[in-house]
Amino acid sequence: KQHFDVLIIGAGPIGLACGIEAQKAGKSYVIIDKGTLVNSLYNYPVFMTFFSTSERLEIGGVPFVSINPKPNRNEALEYYRRVTEKFQLNVRLFEEVQSCQKQDGLFQVTTSKTNYEAKNVIIATGFYDIPNLMNIPGEDLPKVIHYYKDPHYYAFSKVLVVGANNSSVDVALETYRKGAEVTMVIRGSEMGPNVKYWVRPDIENRIKEGAIKAYFESNLKEIKEHSAVISTPEGEVEIENDFVAAMTGYQPNFQFLEKLCVTLNENKVPHYNSETMESNVAGMYLAGVVCGGMDTHKWFIENSRVHAEQIMKHIVNMH
Ligand code: FAD
Repeated sequence: KQHFDVLIIGAGPIGLACGIEAQKAGKSYVIIDKGTLVNSLYNYPVFMTFFSTSERLEIGGVPFVSINPKPNRNEALEYYRRVTEKFQLNVRLFEEVQSCQKQDGLFQVTTSKTNYEAKNVIIATGFYDIPNLMNIPGEDLPKVIHYYKDPHYYAFSKVLVVGANNSSVDVALETYRKGAEVTMVIRGSEMGPNVKYWVRPDIENRIKEGAIKAYFESNLKEIKEHSAVISTPEGEVEIENDFVAAMTGYQPNFQFLEKLCVTLNENKVPHYNSETMESNVAGMYLAGVVCGGMDTHKWFIENSRVHAEQIMKHIVNMH
């Protein structure tokens, strides 16, 4: 069984930042991810642009050089791969952490490939693996997607986009520009407050001119094979439909957290000490966007990369 001072679950930007800090502190460590390196970013829409400027996505003090003010997904993949190479981080990919139990002061960790023993565990598992469901009939039809990749696929089709935040707006605009007939279903009376400021006028003007149809204060009620039923303030409407992009957000894997004995509060926010990031389990820490519970707009890369330093400071002081 392999033994490490620190075992990090998740090779997202924050898991990598934790690895860098562990290395700097002279601790033995391993970063384990069930997918590829920065798996969440890899699964973002292919043409996605970050809302953060590049320096706010930096980890380990390595400059993230991008010609445009806001980098795109491909540049971010390049950046985090290069950072991993530079520090020669000890990363194990396509290996899922399945369980982790504390016995006699040490964590016994089982993955899809092997077993480990660790003095400390950092959970940096993000929130991109589980989509928020609408819980409506037809949601399980193959034409319904929660992860959108590339607009070409939807050319000349009728696409219904659910939601009013960045993901929804990106899907609506991109597919519209590749020839899709786009309808949006929006719960509130306007676009979400976090929509990227340079994108907002584009979507608002497309809706105003009728190029993209939007039903405000409306809910998708049912999805059928060739149509969709929307409940609007004027009553129910059934429209023809080929694809539904349900951009309804994502949530952390709460079951996984509970399995690891992390306590969640009534809003499903995991318990942690905001100074040390230690959870209710001594020696088990939380890092990155997983800390927000259902509120996935609270933590980003720029305000959670410091978790790595906070955690390592505590680990160093404890031993
Ligand atoms: P993640 O990057 O999600 O990494 C978690 C990792 O854990 C994943 O690689 C996953 O495969 C792995 N994992 C999960 N469970 C297990 C397991 N059991 N075993 C092994 N591995 C596991 N943030 C910004 O700061 N700026 C932006 O502009 C921005 N744009 C975004 C755009 C989109 C479309 C989305 C969805 C998010 C965006 N975010 C942005 C938020 C962004 O996702 C996070 O800030 C960032 O990915 C968080 O990093 P993380 O390391 O905490 O989690």
